[in-house]
Amino acid sequence: MLLLFLALGFQEKNNYKEAREKMVNSQIKARGIRGSSTLAAMRTVPRHKFVQKKDMASAYFDSPLPIGHGQTISQPYIVAFMTEIIKPKKDFKVLEIGTGSGYQAAVLSLIVDSVYTIEIIEPLFNQSKKRLKDLNYNNILVKNADGYHGWEEKGPFDAIVVTAAAEFVPPPLMKQLKDGGKMIIPVGTPFTTQQLLLVEKKNGKIKTKNLMFVRFVPFTRAKDE
Ligand code: SAH
Repeated sequence: MLLLFLALGFQEKNNYKEAREKMVNSQIKARGIRGSSTLAAMRTVPRHKFVQKKDMASAYFDSPLPIGHGQTISQPYIVAFMTEIIKPKKDFKVLEIGTGSGYQAAVLSLIVDSVYTIEIIEPLFNQSKKRLKDLNYNNILVKNADGYHGWEEKGPFDAIVVTAAAEFVPPPLMKQLKDGGKMIIPVGTPFTTQQLLLVEKKNGKIKTKNLMFVRFVPFTRAKDE
């Protein structure tokens, strides 16, 4: 009996690994993502452990999925795209706004030195903090706050990844971006499509580029402000 369970467990683990490999080949490589560290991270992070139990079988599908509290885990391609576009390096300190399930943070954490991530919804924060700890992602620090203000004590950051749609680039985030750093942020009106913006700071000057249309959940603000 025990052997049967072990065998089933092994089988299941292999099925997910296979699904992940397929996801990388058909959704990510096929759409032009070539960075070896991004591809390796997408092949490694167990996405099925970041979705709700009932959705585990769909974890590697080409779509976002609900994670409760009206929020979603982004589509795998979008996670890979946002990872790749900041040109992540081993010594990078990255700030993420919108921890959600913790998946994007986990992917980044396999490539960079440290990830600081902020989630405004307390139950999601608690859940992701525990999940990331249980899965041994030890270079991710999670905070429950309104990410509009960034995380000044930990900055400045080599890169900032915002995973909720803002109406404009929050000035505190701009300030906490290192010179030479990159920020990726969906900007536009909530509940419609937004532009995914790449913001670069060079010699004190700001350069922005529209990359593509996307649809993210809204960037919300703390009520007491
Ligand atoms: N990166 C996530 C996807 C998150 S969806 C993942 O990989 O699963 C966007 C998240 O941003 C939601 O969880 C939402 O609650 C959070 N969010 C929205 N506005 C925020 C704010 N001002 N500060 C911090 N988090 C915010």
